[in-house]
Amino acid sequence: MHNVGFIGLGNMGKGMARNLSKNNIHVMGFDVDNSVFDQLKDSNIKHEKNLELLVNSNEVIITMLPDGPIVKKVWGKLVALSEQHHTLIDCSTIDVDTSLEVQNLAKTKGIQTLDAPVSGGVMGADSGTLTFMVGGNFETYENYKYLFDIMGKKSILCGEIGAGQSAKICNNMLLASTMIAVGESFDLAKNLGLNLEKLYEVLSTSSGSCWAINNYCPYKGIGPKSPADKNFEGGFSAALMSKDLSLAIAAAKASGTKINYGLQSQKQFEKLVNEGLGNFDFSKIVSKT
Ligand code: NAD
Repeated sequence: MHNVGFIGLGNMGKGMARNLSKNNIHVMGFDVDNSVFDQLKDSNIKHEKNLELLVNSNEVIITMLPDGPIVKKVWGKLVALSEQHHTLIDCSTIDVDTSLEVQNLAKTKGIQTLDAPVSGGVMGADSGTLTFMVGGNFETYENYKYLFDIMGKKSILCGEIGAGQSAKICNNMLLASTMIAVGESFDLAKNLGLNLEKLYEVLSTSSGSCWAINNYCPYKGIGPKSPADKNFEGGFSAALMSKDLSLAIAAAKASGTKINYGLQSQKQFEKLVNEGLGNFDFSKIVSKT
């Protein structure tokens, strides 16, 4: 039986760790918020409160944390406690610079690393259908691909370390814009007196179809189950989307890339967060544009 240490069992990490555990992997979990383990009582995931014990008991450790500063703090501790036989995999979405910094720090001790951010949301995490965008060397990727195969439906080695994070911010910048565009399309349909169920049927099978409509339709009772059916609770928070857009905008500036929709989307998500709605799923943007 393989062992995995899993740090950060929030909205995403919970489902990912649960799927590993269901597939014959012995998972040891660590989170600063002990209450996350209340929802994992029915699983075999072991609640470990001591980071040193977690590192000593597991050769591979996955982190699924909110942002770059937290990853930097946690990886600082992990690198200090780890040795050459360890592999650290960060599945959080963070800025490319921090990802490179922590992975290069690990390399100084001969520790193997991957950045492997994900797409697919909480539903994908729960159902084991995530897509992993991986940065790192081929051998490390091949060694741990079986973990991505359990937690997801696809993993793509995008390039050397940092390449996974680069792919992820490009993806999320596009997602933010398409979700806002879906909202505009539904608004127009409402004003034209269209039946929204019929609109969904058309859009999800026509040239306007996209993930935001087909898998995450932001209207209650329309399309597959999505956070809209739970009053936008859970899911991928607007605050995290705003963070990802900031990462994309910073990367665009640094690389001299001209963007337009990404900037406009960021303004709208920033406004949503400033109105105190950052904890709601990002698809709430459709009711606020
Ligand atoms: P979350 O806030 O629900 O979970 C993060 C978990 O990390 C929490 O349980 C928190 O207590 C824990 N944590 C915070 N600081 C910690 C520390 N120092 N040590 C240990 N644990 C700590 O966030 P999430 O929605 O699960 O997202 C996690 C990451 O995945 C983010 O980087 C996000 O951008 C990315 N992501 C999220 C989604 C989504 O739909 N939610 C989709 C794709 C990617």
